[in-house]
Amino acid sequence: MERQEGGVRRLDGSDSSHAVSALTGVSKIPQKKAEKAPGKKVRESLKEFDEKKYGYLAEGLAALRAELEKSGISVLATESERDIRGTDASEPPKILKILLFHDVPGLAAMPKTHEEVATCVRLCRKLGIPLVIRGAGSSAFGAVLPPEGGAVIDMGGISGILLMDPSNLRVVVRAGTRWADLSLELKKQGLALKTSPSSFFSTVGGWFVTGGYGLGSLSYGHISKHVSSIRVVLPDGSDRRLSSADELFGLMIGSEGQLGAITEMTLSVRLAPKISKTLLVQTSDDTAAFGLVSSLIASKAPISHIMFYDVNRIKEIGHLVHLPQPYLSESPAVLIETEGEEAAKIGLPPGIKVTEPPEFLANMLWGDRYFPMRGRIRGPGMLGAEVIAPIAAVPSFLGRVRQLGQFFGIEIASESHILSDKEALVLSFFLTDQRRPLMYTIHAVLSMLITRIGTDLGGRPYAVGIWNQPFSSFVVSREKMAGLKRVNRELDPDDLFNPGKFLSKRAKMSGPIAIFLRERMTLFALGALMGVASLAGRVTKGVFSPKHVKGPTDLELSTYACTRCGACVSVCPAFIATGRESTTGRGKLLTARKILAKRAIDEDEAKELFLCMKCHACEEVCQTRLPLLSAYEELEDLAEFRYGRPKELIESFVAEVEASPEYNQLLYKGVISPDAGAKEVETDAV
Ligand SMILES: Cc1cc2nc3c(=O)[nH]c(=O)nc-3n(C[C@H](O)[C@H](O)[C@H](O)COP(=O)(O)OP(=O)(O)OC[C@H]3O[C@@H](n4cnc5c(N)ncnc54)[C@H](O)[C@@H]3O)c2cc1C
Ligand code: SF4
Ligand code: SF4
Repeated sequence: MERQEGGVRRLDGSDSSHAVSALTGVSKIPQKKAEKAPGKKVRESLKEFDEKKYGYLAEGLAALRAELEKSGISVLATESERDIRGTDASEPPKILKILLFHDVPGLAAMPKTHEEVATCVRLCRKLGIPLVIRGAGSSAFGAVLPPEGGAVIDMGGISGILLMDPSNLRVVVRAGTRWADLSLELKKQGLALKTSPSSFFSTVGGWFVTGGYGLGSLSYGHISKHVSSIRVVLPDGSDRRLSSADELFGLMIGSEGQLGAITEMTLSVRLAPKISKTLLVQTSDDTAAFGLVSSLIASKAPISHIMFYDVNRIKEIGHLVHLPQPYLSESPAVLIETEGEEAAKIGLPPGIKVTEPPEFLANMLWGDRYFPMRGRIRGPGMLGAEVIAPIAAVPSFLGRVRQLGQFFGIEIASESHILSDKEALVLSFFLTDQRRPLMYTIHAVLSMLITRIGTDLGGRPYAVGIWNQPFSSFVVSREKMAGLKRVNRELDPDDLFNPGKFLSKRAKMSGPIAIFLRERMTLFALGALMGVASLAGRVTKGVFSPKHVKGPTDLELSTYACTRCGACVSVCPAFIATGRESTTGRGKLLTARKILAKRAIDEDEAKELFLCMKCHACEEVCQTRLPLLSAYEELEDLAEFRYGRPKELIESFVAEVEASPEYNQLLYKGVISPDAGAKEVETDAV
C-alpha cells in the first residue's frame, strides 16, 4: 500500500487525481477536459429546468423552515443531509433519474412526537409543499424518493416503546422504532417478535405500509395480522386512532406513505422460544426442493421459517465465505428453522432424497438471513427483482430467470422466503456496474423482465414504489385501488402526500417516459422484449458483461458497493447522538460518490467527513461487509488536503457524542466497545 502526494492510498498503486480535483479544484486533468466533465452541462440545464418548474417552492420552503424552527422542530437543511433524504436502497439509472424527478428535497424535518409530525404536515399543506414520509429509507423501489423535491419528514426521531405489556403479550411502539431495537427490548422481557423484515434496521411504520412479509411469516402471517391499532396523522394534519376493524386501517397497509403518517402502533408479540434448531438440506434440483417445502408444511411440524437458495445463490455464498468442498455442493438448498420443545426432534419426510451439510453451515446461513445483498461486494453494483409467486410456479420461474441471465452473460442468483402453504417471495439479484451507464440501464430493464416472468407465472412484484408502477395492478387489487383513490382524493385533494407514486397524477412524472413507466404499454413492451431476449442478450453480452472492480481503493469499493440499506445508520453513535445522517457510513459514502463523480463539495460537507467515533459499529453490521474505516481514512485525507483538519470541531464533536445518553446506551447494549473509537479520534485530533 502506498500513499500518493495529495492523493489517496490505492491498493493497486495508481493515483486518484479525479477525486482530488473534485475537492480541491487543483486538477491533474487538462482544464479543457475537466470543463467537459461528463454530464456537467446536462446537469446545469436540468437544474435550470427544475428551478423554472419548481422555483415557486423556494419561498414556501423558506417559510416552512422558519415556522418549523419557531416550533422547535429539528430542521435538516444542509446539502448532505438533504442528499441522503433523497435516496433509498434503489439505485435508478442516471438517465431515468435525470428525466423523471428531483432527487433532493428542499428540506428535511425530524419531528420527535406525534404532535410535531402533525405540525409538519399542517404547515406543508398550508404552504402547498409536497412532502414525503420517510422511515429508515431501506425500501428498494423508490417509494421514499421525493420526485418534486419539497419536504421530507424523517420519522427516525419518533422512536421508543410507549407501553410494554408482557401479561397481554402486547407492545405499543412509536412508528420510527427500528425492529432490531424493539426486538432487543422484548428479549429483556422474555418476549419475541412474531415476524420481522430481514431489514432488521428498518422502522415498524415503514414495514407496515410497504411489504409486511418477512421472517416468521410462514407461521404468523402478514404483519397486519398482529397489529391491532395504529395512530395516524392524516394529510390534513388531523389525528386518528384506527383499529384493525376500520376501513382506513386496511387501506393503510401497503399504501406506501400516500395516505398519512403512522406515528404509533400496537403490536401483539409472543413468548420467546426456549429451543430452536436450524436444519439445512440440499436437493438435486429446484422441483425437488419445493416438493420438500410442500411436504414440510403439510407435516405440521413446528417450523417457524423456511428459506430456499437456488444453485447460483449457493455458488455465490461459496465465493463469499470460501467454503471448502464438499461442505456445500453446487445444488439448491432449503433452510428450515424450527422452534419449541419438538424442534430438536424434527425429521425430514420419508422418501425424499437429500444431503445434509454440517450444522455449522445451517447456523451460518440462518445468521446471515439479515444480509441478502452480501454478494454486492463482488459487484460493485447489484440489481434485481422481488416477486411473490405461487409455490408451484417457483421452480419454473427460477429456471426462466437463470436462462434470461445466461442470454445476457450474467448469473442471476435467487433466494426465497416461504410465506405460506401457497406463496413464496423470491429475491433475484445479479451483479452489475453503475459506472457504465448504458449497461446499467439495460440491466435495469432486465430486472423488469424478471418481474415480468413472475407476473406471467401468476405472481406479482413485492411492492410498487416508483419502479414497479407499470405492475401496480398486480400488487394492489382493483377493489383496494378504488378505495385508496377515493380516500386519497378526500384526504389529500392537492396531492401533496408522497407525490409521483401510484396514486398520484402530477409532477415531473409526466411525458413519454412517465407514460412508459406507468402504463400497460410497458407490460406489452416487456413481453415483446422477452420474445427477443435470446437475440438481444447475444448481441449485448460481449459488449456489456459486467467487469468486476479491479484493484479499487477501499474508498472506491465501499462507495460503489454500498447498498444504501441503512443498517449502519441504526448503530452509529454519531448519528444517534446528533441526528445527522451525514456522519454515518451511508452518509459519508454518499459524499464520496460526489467526490468520485468529480462534483465539488464545500467546506461544510468536507468537515462532516471527520465526524466519526471510529467505533467500527458500522463495519460490524454492514450489509456488504465493506472496509468502511479505511474508506473513511481515505476520505479524511482528501478533505484534509483541501480544507485542513478541523481539530477543534472533531474534539467538540467527540465530547458531545460521548456526553450523550444515547452513546452510553449503545455502550450498555454492547453495540460499541468502551475501548473503541474516541481515543483514536482524540489521538488523530491532537
Ligand atoms: C437488506 C434488506 C432486506 C429487506 N428485507 C425485507 C423483508 O424481509 N421484507 C420486506 O417487506 N421488506 C424488506 N426490505 C425492504 C424494506 O426494508 C422494507 O420495506 C422496510 O420495512 C421499509 O421500512 P423503512 O423504515 O426503511 O421505510 P422507508 O424505506 O423509509 O419508506 C418506505 C415507504 O413507507 C413510507 N413510510 C415510512 N414510514 C412511514 C410511516 N411511519 N407512516 C407512513 N408511511 C411511512 C414511505 O413514505 C415510503 O413510501 C429489505 C430491504 C433491504 C435493504
Ligand atoms: S465508526 Fe462509529 S461513529 Fe464512525 S461512522 Fe461508523 S458507526 Fe458511525
Ligand atoms: S455502508 Fe454498509 S450498512 Fe451502511 S448503507 Fe452501505 S451497505 Fe448498508
